[in-house]
Amino acid sequence: MKEGMKKLTDFLLDCVFPYFCLQCGASDVYFCFLCRQADWFKNPTGIFVHGNEIDSSLTRIISLTKYNSEVDAARLIEDFKYGFINQASTEINVWLKNTAWLNKEIADCDLIIPVPLHRRRFAERGFNQAEIIAGFMSTIIHRPIDFLSLIRAKSTKQQAKLGREKRLKNVIDAFVCKNKEKIVGQNILLVDDVYTTGATLEECAKVLLATGAKNVSSFTLAHG
Ligand SMILES: [Zn+2]
Repeated sequence: MKEGMKKLTDFLLDCVFPYFCLQCGASDVYFCFLCRQADWFKNPTGIFVHGNEIDSSLTRIISLTKYNSEVDAARLIEDFKYGFINQASTEINVWLKNTAWLNKEIADCDLIIPVPLHRRRFAERGFNQAEIIAGFMSTIIHRPIDFLSLIRAKSTKQQAKLGREKRLKNVIDAFVCKNKEKIVGQNILLVDDVYTTGATLEECAKVLLATGAKNVSSFTLAHG
């Protein structure tokens, strides 16, 4: 009965909000077969930056693809943050699984930590996209995930609305780390959706290193 109701609800929703492919606009599908064959999705090559090249607290900065509003991946990521959360997260999980190098590149990772949202922002949005990505990663690379040790203690302005200088200032002292015993000596993989200026990830890395992490690298879907 429940299943029948869900099918009916899905059918009615499809009538009111029909799907169009997020890339090409083909009807009745969220992401069509042809568009799924694109290299960025089917065989992402990845972007790798070593922290010492850019004077960073992060040992490695790893992303699936580059990010700007013109690349196809941006539509999927924007849907994931602001639109069709369920459909987009299913595709993001497939995208991550399509990444053959993932296991090798982050082989030394002991613990996955998603970049936290402040609890007020979490309540407004209802989910943290970094936690969703981290959950997928944990299943794919078989590493534990820690949602509790890193906390965003200060409610900051949305980074997307600020320039580089202000982004850096905005996140200073925004994070605290508890459960020191879980962090000391660990190789940590910080996970977020997009690396833009890196200000948020850098600040998280500093706090984790100060707590005793051995090293911290970052993984994001895209690199701005
Ligand atoms: Zn398409």
